[in-house]
Amino acid sequence: MRSKPGHSFAPDFISPGNPARMQDTATYACAYCGEPNVTFPDWSGGRRQQYIEDCTVCCQPNVLYLTLDHDGETVCVFAEPG
Ligand SMILES: [Zn+2]
Repeated sequence: MRSKPGHSFAPDFISPGNPARMQDTATYACAYCGEPNVTFPDWSGGRRQQYIEDCTVCCQPNVLYLTLDHDGETVCVFAEPG
């Protein structure tokens, strides 16, 4: 069977060296003041992250629990007072 020029059977998103884009930002509501904050999880450490980040509004420490979904596009974020 001849392959057709200009047609690829391999979608870009599974090509080697071009992995599916993972969410590199996540938004959570501060556990103290409720203001939205943006955080930058490092998924190289795994799909689950836990770290403390100070709120940019009230400067209180939030303990963040982040989970990256299987599709790599959905991030669940939970913040609690640190
Ligand atoms: Zn806050």
